[in-house]
Amino acid sequence: MNATIINNINTIQQRIAQACARSHRDPKEIQLLLATKTVTAERIKIALQTGQTLIAENKVQELKEKYEDLQEIPHNNHFIGHLQTNKIKEILKYNVSCIQSVDRLDLAQKLHQRLAAENKTMDILIQVNTSFEESKYGVAPDQVIDLVRQIAPLHTLHIKGLMTIGLLSAEAEQVRKCFQLLKQIQQEIVMLNIPNVVMTELSMGMSGDLEIAIAEGATIVRVGTAIFGQRNTPDSYYWNENQI
Ligand SMILES: *Cc1c(COP(=O)(O)O)cnc(C)c1O
Repeated sequence: MNATIINNINTIQQRIAQACARSHRDPKEIQLLLATKTVTAERIKIALQTGQTLIAENKVQELKEKYEDLQEIPHNNHFIGHLQTNKIKEILKYNVSCIQSVDRLDLAQKLHQRLAAENKTMDILIQVNTSFEESKYGVAPDQVIDLVRQIAPLHTLHIKGLMTIGLLSAEAEQVRKCFQLLKQIQQEIVMLNIPNVVMTELSMGMSGDLEIAIAEGATIVRVGTAIFGQRNTPDSYYWNENQI
């Protein structure tokens, strides 16, 4: 099992390198993020021992459960799941350095209030629903600029870029459109020169579509199943409005 995780990480790194070569990018521009939902702390540690440093959970509960066990290996925690406002106080206990899934103003405002009270700051990405699927979280593409303008003055929050989950489809060109849209929104925001807004990060691409994402400008790819294997819990449990 250890060998599988280690081999899988090597395979992913090769895929990243090949995708970079095809689009004339430097692999150093791409951060590999391990999406660890449903994965035990033991198995996450195997991945961290290979030299991986960036992991992310979707639920505060899982972050909490694994937190102690993972302390022995230095790493960086992002958060990539739907964040309920009643979990803000809790998430701030676990050393998360970036919340990639900020998709609404009330979440940003409440996060800001709490961070200000604790004298902390937080990097964030704005999650965009580029696939236009109703079931997915994320701000609608035509509302991203307004949201960024509204969040920018909240001084504890540092906007670093955008995140999206592409359409889960076998049709590469449909998936590519999602990533191109994210890139386009990024470019529009860059042109606006909004104070306190940095747009360097594009978090897009997962196990099935990271090559397309890299070709379209991803700087962070988020990989779960291709490293840790299939999950028993369906992704709808983590991604859909209809599920708690
Ligand atoms: C689970 C998850 C991933 C990784 O998906 P895989 O298909 O398992 O690689 C990436 N991003 C988010 C937001 C996720 O929830």
